[in-house]
Amino acid sequence: MTRVIGPGAALGVLGSGQLGRMFAIAARRMGYRVHTFSPEADTPTGQVADVEVVAEYEDLDALRAFARQVDVVTFEFENVPIVAVDAIETITPVRPCGMALHTAQQRAREKQFLADRGFPTAPFGRAATLDELWDAVARIGTPAVIKTAAFGYDGKGQHKVTTPADVEHIWTAIGHQEAVVEKFVNLQTEVSVVAARGIDGEMAHYQPFENRHRDHILDVTTTPAAITPSLAARAAEIARDLLEELQYVGVLCVEFFVDTDGELLVNEIAPRPHNSGHLTFDAAITSQFEQQVRAVCALPLGSTRLLAPAAAMANLLGELWEDDEPNWAAASRFSDVKLHLYGKSEARRGRKMGHMTAMGQTTDEALDRVISARDALLI
Ligand code: AMP
Repeated sequence: MTRVIGPGAALGVLGSGQLGRMFAIAARRMGYRVHTFSPEADTPTGQVADVEVVAEYEDLDALRAFARQVDVVTFEFENVPIVAVDAIETITPVRPCGMALHTAQQRAREKQFLADRGFPTAPFGRAATLDELWDAVARIGTPAVIKTAAFGYDGKGQHKVTTPADVEHIWTAIGHQEAVVEKFVNLQTEVSVVAARGIDGEMAHYQPFENRHRDHILDVTTTPAAITPSLAARAAEIARDLLEELQYVGVLCVEFFVDTDGELLVNEIAPRPHNSGHLTFDAAITSQFEQQVRAVCALPLGSTRLLAPAAAMANLLGELWEDDEPNWAAASRFSDVKLHLYGKSEARRGRKMGHMTAMGQTTDEALDRVISARDALLI
């Protein structure tokens, strides 16, 4: 039987952003200690962790020293070099394992993994040279989206191709990097499923979240998603199949496109809690972060049930700070809306600074509360 890592133990987190911060809050509430490792100091995670280690991910000695201080290591950020994970794994368990991280951290590899196992994706091609890019665009057809294979998130490194004449300048714009060409999907909506798997194979998932993006960045999430029960069940089944396929331990998010024909296509997988799951912090019995603690500590998983019929989350981006400090007093008058801020960092356009969550009888009601509270920040 796998050893349970009980409260009082130290949990290591690679990465130090908002996801690590909420993981640390959940872990500390449950009596764990948290150590975070990243190249920055005074980070969102570091501000609430017991120990903040500041070193480069390439510093294997620092990673080994970090690993010796903790009972298990997880991550909140997938772009950690695989050598870092390998170095830690010789000393302490890493959950989820390096293989899941390796698959999810490069788009071309991730798409290939999904396609090889029969998971539905938008038609795609891979290209490492300009000639291959021409071929892939010719094969997929336009409109299409060219995405850099490495390190893409929140729409970074993405370019829409409307005619083949766009290809050459996009190749220049992405710096001649390996790319994935994807058919442009006519979206009905976008949903995500956050699911978890424990060491003994136990699984749990939240009902799908419905996600609305603005400028490729998540803007608002609502649940339950306005999709048919059979589509919701299929999305959950895909998430569970992926957990099983990866022999995954921890929390994973699967992002889906729902096209105008009602087809479900996997867009990408995140090997960690996800922005769309932030509403679980206030609106579910077990938050996605507590679930991550449970899974990596070999504890039974918690209930994913919502505390209300519906919930909504609105992201707070750096632009809210552009003119002045937001009007916290005005927003706080929405006394049922929960505010989360990730700690002081420089407010920049597109940077996620916090979020708001509300519950309601319907998604419209919950959404209206968070949007109204967010609007009040600019009064
Ligand atoms: P990604 O960084 O791949 O998650 O993309 C960010 C957002 O861009 C997605 O959530 C979609 O709103 C949009 N997008 C990405 N790829 C496509 C596509 N192939 N077709 C239509 N919209 C897309």
